[in-house]
Amino acid sequence: MAKVFVVAEHRDGRLKKSTFELLGASSAAGNETHAILLGEGVADLAKELGQYGAQKVHLVQNAALKFYTAEAYAKAVTELAKAGAADVVLASHTPTGRDFMPRVAARLNAGLASDCISLAFDGAKIKVRRPVYAGKATAEVEFVGAGPQVATIRANALGVPKPDASKSAEVINENVDLSGLVTKVIEVVKGNSARPDVTEASIVVSGGRAMKSAENFKILEEMADVLGAAVGASRAAVDAGYRPHRDQVGQTGKVVSPSLYIACGISGAIQHLAGMRTSKVIVAINTDPEAPIFQLADYGVVGDLFQVVPVLAQELKKVREH
Ligand SMILES: Cc1cc2nc3c(=O)[nH]c(=O)nc-3n(C[C@H](O)[C@H](O)[C@H](O)COP(=O)(O)OP(=O)(O)OC[C@H]3O[C@@H](n4cnc5c(N)ncnc54)[C@H](O)[C@@H]3O)c2cc1C
Repeated sequence: MAKVFVVAEHRDGRLKKSTFELLGASSAAGNETHAILLGEGVADLAKELGQYGAQKVHLVQNAALKFYTAEAYAKAVTELAKAGAADVVLASHTPTGRDFMPRVAARLNAGLASDCISLAFDGAKIKVRRPVYAGKATAEVEFVGAGPQVATIRANALGVPKPDASKSAEVINENVDLSGLVTKVIEVVKGNSARPDVTEASIVVSGGRAMKSAENFKILEEMADVLGAAVGASRAAVDAGYRPHRDQVGQTGKVVSPSLYIACGISGAIQHLAGMRTSKVIVAINTDPEAPIFQLADYGVVGDLFQVVPVLAQELKKVREH
């Protein structure tokens, strides 16, 4: 049994599904599962953490944690992990997790396995798998020696467990000295997209250079609306100005692992595949039967996306309605 500390991620008063995945995996393996909850006015979130498997919630409420900063998070998480003698410290491999967890590992003088796609426990030790060489190979990683093990896990890799309303966590109000921080967020300016982020969505509809314009992405948005999906893009589409960089999937964009990835007019360059190859089901729509994306796709449609996508969206709508 390991003593596992999971850093809870939340935004706009809601916990992220990826946090539930980590809690679920740890508690299902019979570990002593702790959650670290940082912020200001976030105490209400502790209840849900308990329902997903946290036995104890270490709550730090501090004005310095109102907005995320790597500096404050790293300091708080390190202190709590040290004080609690954590065997394992986990966070989701989101832009936030990949930002502060290397600092945590350095401060704990621990090894770090990042962007893991599987997690197994063996006593107090963990074993993880992580893609390497742009996803062409998968490394199995074990931690040697004593001391804490730090890992970030890709969202959607472990699956979200069902909450158990009968479960609750003991909430411990912690005091961490956050004076002397040198960074402070003054204001957060939100993007105007109401869509889920590509890293969190369980369905992603992506478009490539073949979309030809930003306006043409409307047909993908319409299909995404039917599916409750996020809209992603290849780098070629982003470089052409069709989509913002936050939607880019791939080696220099975001890494996604949804249940369903629909690639429209995307050739399947290795750098794009690096960001989506662990998707559970991949559908490709491409006019070129030789496009590399078809080698990875579970389902392929050889055809013009401007004809296929609207028909597909209509059929999906019918299915959803019945
Ligand atoms: C260091 C580095 C990092 C990179 N990082 C990334 C990254 O993070 N993400 C990323 O995506 N790329 C990345 N790239 C770029 C990558 O190599 C490719 O250039 C890019 O992915 C190509 O995008 P695309 O598939 O949209 O365009 P293309 O390769 O031009 O493919 C367009 C596809 O659309 C098909 N098509 C054309 N018309 C239609 C139609 N009407 N209907 C259906 N299909 C049609 C074509 O047959 C073709 O297969 C990176 C490159 C480098 C060097």
